[in-house]
Amino acid sequence: MALRTIRIAGDPVLTRKCREVKEMTPRLKELIDDMFETMYESSGVGLAAPQVGILKRICVIDTTGENPLVLINPVITEREGEQTGDEGCLSLPGKAAQVTRPMKVVVEALDRDMNPVVLTGEELLARAMCHEIDHLDGHMYTEFAEGPVHDVTYEDEDEEEEE
Ligand SMILES: [Zn+2]
Repeated sequence: MALRTIRIAGDPVLTRKCREVKEMTPRLKELIDDMFETMYESSGVGLAAPQVGILKRICVIDTTGENPLVLINPVITEREGEQTGDEGCLSLPGKAAQVTRPMKVVVEALDRDMNPVVLTGEELLARAMCHEIDHLDGHMYTEFAEGPVHDVTYEDEDEEEEE
């Protein structure tokens, strides 16, 4: 495993639409391992492949530190309720802004063995799923921000979830 360089907002790779994964390969498994390592190293709760420069529909999420999820070709099939709160992104370090997301989503995806899975996410997990899937279509949370993108102060940093 190896750490990958996280692309920062302004990098055109973050605005591109990613391609579907057709088959799992040793290289893609290595990419997934590296994405988890890079995400944990940065104290993030999610990371999408374009954030490390790979235009494939893959994201990794772990909102609790104990529930690593791999989402390949994910599609949101149900949305329920809403939540408004501060959101951050590893591609925009030290910043956050208010974004409204569904309170609950159902996502259909493939796991790392390309088996179909149906995942339900609520609260932070729902937010992370929406945020990461947006990355696969070239979207950053700042496009949906309801207030100014503000600096995260040092005191608040422990409470921020950066995706
Ligand atoms: Zn992000």
